[in-house]
Amino acid sequence: MLFYSIALLGSPLEPLTYHSVDCLSAGREVDVTLSNRLQQGVVIEECEKPEFTTQPIGMTRSFFYTDAQIQCAQFMSEYYGCSLGEALNLYVPYSIEIEPIRKEISLSSINVILSESQVKALDFIRSHPVSLLFGDTGAGKSEIYMRRMDEILSEGKRALLLLPEISLTPQMESRFREHFGDAVVLWHSKMTPKQKKVTLEKIYNGEAHIIVGPRSALFLPIADLGLIVVDEEHDESYKSSSRPRYNARDMAVYLGSLLKIPVVLGSATPSLGSYAKYPFFRLRGGFYESKRTFVFEPSLEALTPSIDRIIMGNFTDGHQGIVFIPTRANFKYTVCESCGYHVECPFCSVGMSQHKNSRALKCHYCNYTEVLPKICPKCQSGALRTARLGTAEAVEHFSRLSETLRVQQFDRDIITTQNKLIKVLEAFNRHEIDLLVGTQMLSKGHDYHDIALAVVMGLDNLLSQSDYRAREKALSLLVQIAGRSGRKQNATVFVQSFNEHFFREYLEDYEKFLIDELRIRNGRYPPTKKLARLLYAHKNGVKAKAAMEEAVVQLQRIDTVQIVGFGASAIERIADKYRFQILLRSDKSTDLIRAIKHVKSSMMEIDMDPIEFT
Ligand SMILES: [Zn+2]
Ligand SMILES: [Zn+2]
Repeated sequence: MLFYSIALLGSPLEPLTYHSVDCLSAGREVDVTLSNRLQQGVVIEECEKPEFTTQPIGMTRSFFYTDAQIQCAQFMSEYYGCSLGEALNLYVPYSIEIEPIRKEISLSSINVILSESQVKALDFIRSHPVSLLFGDTGAGKSEIYMRRMDEILSEGKRALLLLPEISLTPQMESRFREHFGDAVVLWHSKMTPKQKKVTLEKIYNGEAHIIVGPRSALFLPIADLGLIVVDEEHDESYKSSSRPRYNARDMAVYLGSLLKIPVVLGSATPSLGSYAKYPFFRLRGGFYESKRTFVFEPSLEALTPSIDRIIMGNFTDGHQGIVFIPTRANFKYTVCESCGYHVECPFCSVGMSQHKNSRALKCHYCNYTEVLPKICPKCQSGALRTARLGTAEAVEHFSRLSETLRVQQFDRDIITTQNKLIKVLEAFNRHEIDLLVGTQMLSKGHDYHDIALAVVMGLDNLLSQSDYRAREKALSLLVQIAGRSGRKQNATVFVQSFNEHFFREYLEDYEKFLIDELRIRNGRYPPTKKLARLLYAHKNGVKAKAAMEEAVVQLQRIDTVQIVGFGASAIERIADKYRFQILLRSDKSTDLIRAIKHVKSSMMEIDMDPIEFT
């Protein structure tokens, strides 16, 4: 009889021991039972016969996980504080039923022509295991990626390109297809099961040489991987906001070191962490060559007459524009004018957003929806006033400016599928839309051809958040949005903010910001310190609070970590669960991990290297 340690896929339990008469190899997917329920597991290793009686391993499946996948999952489980089974559950296994085919790929004969500085950048990324391509918007990072991929492909290896999900645009795809032909496959969450199956087969049998996708593409079983590129490496969507709260950029660097293959991180506004940690190449041009005029309006976030004027002026001149607003829906808050009652979600301690089209109030945290009330639900008499406008309201407003102005909303409420994204971007580039009004989605690496105006609202709100990254977030957002405009012609960037001085100081030189910010954070926040956030959520607020307090007492005894703060989360309740948190700091992540192990509980969720604090 042989005994095996089996990781239970998706289960928070650590691996358990099962037995089998067959000799099984590590990585094999198997069926086991857990409390009389069928459960899929993965063979981790053979182990000694334990003291207790074990259950037999059931059917073996035709899938297996590679050594690299298991090792990455082990690292994820240790670092991000989840079980091995939860980490492995993110990975897509190999199918042993599919035979690899060796197909010659035909690259486009058109060589990607590089400028002198691009050649230098290529040399740079060639000579470092991990490198940061700090390249201005429009300075030609993609050409460098493509040339490096050419080299990797000619060695018979494959390349993985990670992008923020929403950056998988038709322009990007056609650019890569033109050069790499059918050797390119896309992978993303909005694919149908059938599309996924077809793509996976190409990855299994080796037809796919360039795999492009968001963070989940990192978990695909890519044989002979020779290069990983993480584009827009600063993007927050690389960090998972649910358990396990891994960061795909950092996992990519880990995978690179494990496989001894190069990893290239690229961004026009690199994260301070990557800037401080990795050797970088500064690729200038593009952004700074085209003429952008920044105009600041010191006012609160509102649709002011000057915004109307500048939008109409730009439209009359025959140009296109974009408007950034951080909030979706019509309004974020609804307040009673007579009693001051603030309409909150009954399950979360957040304001309900007004969606006029569906005549509803919606909670953006738990999706609870109710009919838009006409009068105050509390005092039954007061009129309701709204505050903090969102994209839908701005679209209504701008549409009233002129009958011929074609305005399009561009956010998660409207762009719900990859197809809708493609349709809107194509229509915009065909000039069938004059004004795009959107949220963060606007800033993410799309190629808009002809924007002469960018209006940016709500930055002061970002700046005033109690988040040590507030300055970095606000500035990089402005630089990214500004970078979408003025590609072909001069452009105006109209910014509604009282903080002109701060933005002006760094707009022309993002690196100066990084240097200053590094000095400000030194000794207090990442990258010079490591942070971990421990979250306690429970329907019973007393229980959650007690669990947090107990952990605080224990953590206070550990002198390698420091408690930065603890208490109720900024949003005290989400989806009917009360939330408490502890923020921990240390010089080393190993000290944090060790300390957290002392206070592990089923109620607690670990967020290593957190980027949200609400
Ligand atoms: Zn009232
Ligand atoms: Zn809610």
